[in-house]
Amino acid sequence: MPASKRILVTGGSGFLGSFLCESLLNDGHDVLCVDNFQTGSRRNILHLQDNPRFEVMRHDVTVPLYVEVDEIWNLASPASPIHYQTDPVKTVKTNVLGAIHMLGLARRTKSRIFQASTSEIYGDPLVHPQPESYWGNVNTIGPRSCYDEGKRCAETLFFDYKRHLGLDIRMARIFNTYGPRMSSHDGRVVSNFIVQALRGEPITIYGAGTQTRSFCYVDDLIAGFRLLMNAPSDAPMPMNLGNPAEFTIRELADLVIELTGSPSRIDHRPLPTDDPVQRKPDISRATQYLGWTPRIQLREGLSHTIAYFENLLSRGRDRQVA
Ligand code: NAD
Ligand code: UDP
Repeated sequence: MPASKRILVTGGSGFLGSFLCESLLNDGHDVLCVDNFQTGSRRNILHLQDNPRFEVMRHDVTVPLYVEVDEIWNLASPASPIHYQTDPVKTVKTNVLGAIHMLGLARRTKSRIFQASTSEIYGDPLVHPQPESYWGNVNTIGPRSCYDEGKRCAETLFFDYKRHLGLDIRMARIFNTYGPRMSSHDGRVVSNFIVQALRGEPITIYGAGTQTRSFCYVDDLIAGFRLLMNAPSDAPMPMNLGNPAEFTIRELADLVIELTGSPSRIDHRPLPTDDPVQRKPDISRATQYLGWTPRIQLREGLSHTIAYFENLLSRGRDRQVA
C-alpha cells in the first residue's frame, strides 16, 4: 500500500466526490472533504462519517482556504445544466476563483493537484469522436457558457501554473458519468429518466432524441481518476475519461423503460439552447498512458443505478437534503 497522505477533495459530498473520498479512505489516506453543499448532499458521505480518517469542512472554494495537505482533487462545481445555470455568475466564480485558490494552495503546500475538467470543453463538437487535441466549438455568450468557459479558464490556469511555477498538475476531461448517488433532482438525463420511469411518469426527451452521449459508470471513472493521479508527471495532459460506447438519447430512454419494466410513455420537450448534437470520447491517450478502459457497459451500470433509485424512492428519501 502507498504511504498514507492527507488529501483534500473539493466537492467531496457530490456524486463523484463521495466515491472518490471513499476510494481514497479505502487505501488508508486521510481525507478532508470540502464542500459548500450547493449541489452535494450529506447523505452521500454519511457512511464515511465514522471513519476517523475522514473530515468534512463546510467551505466555499470562491474563498481562499488555508489547510495543510499533501494532495488536492478539485471537483467543486455544479455539474448539471439546471444547477450551473441557476446562478451562472456563481458558476464562473466557483470554477475560476476556485481554481486560483486551489492552485495557490497547491503551490504553498507543494501538492500535486487534479482538476475535474469536462467534455464541455469541446462544446458542440465538429470533430467526432473528440481527441484531447481538438480545441472545441464553444459559444461564449450562451446559457451553457458559464460552465463551459469557466472550465476552459480553469484549464488555462492549471497550465499557466504548471508552465510558470512548475506545479505538478493532473487533468481529466470527464464525459457524462452516471451511477448511484446522482441527485434525483439535478435534471441530468440518466437520473431524470430512471426516476420518471420508476414513478410511471412521462420520460422527457428534449428534441427528437437523436443527440448522442457516451455514458461512463462511476466505478470505471473513479478507477481512471486514481490511475491518472498516479501517472508519471511527463504523461500528456489533459486526458479524456469516458466510455466510448455512444447512444442516442432515444436509445437510452428505451433501455431505461425496458430495464425498469415501466409503463411510462415518451414526452418530447424543446431542445435546450446549444445542446451538443453528439459526444464521444477518444480515449486512446488514457488507454496508452494509464492502461485504462471502462469495463462496465450501459445495461449493467443502469441496473445498479436503477436499484439505487428504487431504494431511494421506496424510502421517500428522494427529497434534497443538504
Ligand atoms: P455534483 O454536483 O454532484 O458535485 C459537485 C460538488 O461540488 C457538490 O457537492 C457541490 O456542493 C460542490 N460545490 C459546488 N460549488 C462549490 C463551491 N463554490 N465551493 C465548494 N463546493 C462546491 O457533480 P458531480 O457530477 O459529482 O461533478 C463533480 C465534478 O466533476 C465537477 O467539477 C463537474 O464539473 C465534473 N464533471 C462531472 C461530470 C459528470 O458526468 N458527472 C462530467 C464532466 C465533469
Ligand atoms: N435530456 C433529455 N431529457 C432530460 C434530460 C436531458 O432529453 O430529461 C438530454 C439533454 O438535452 C442532452 C442529454 O440528454 O441532450 C444529456 O443531458 P445532461 O443534462 O444529462 O448532460 P449534458 O447535456 O451536460 O451532456
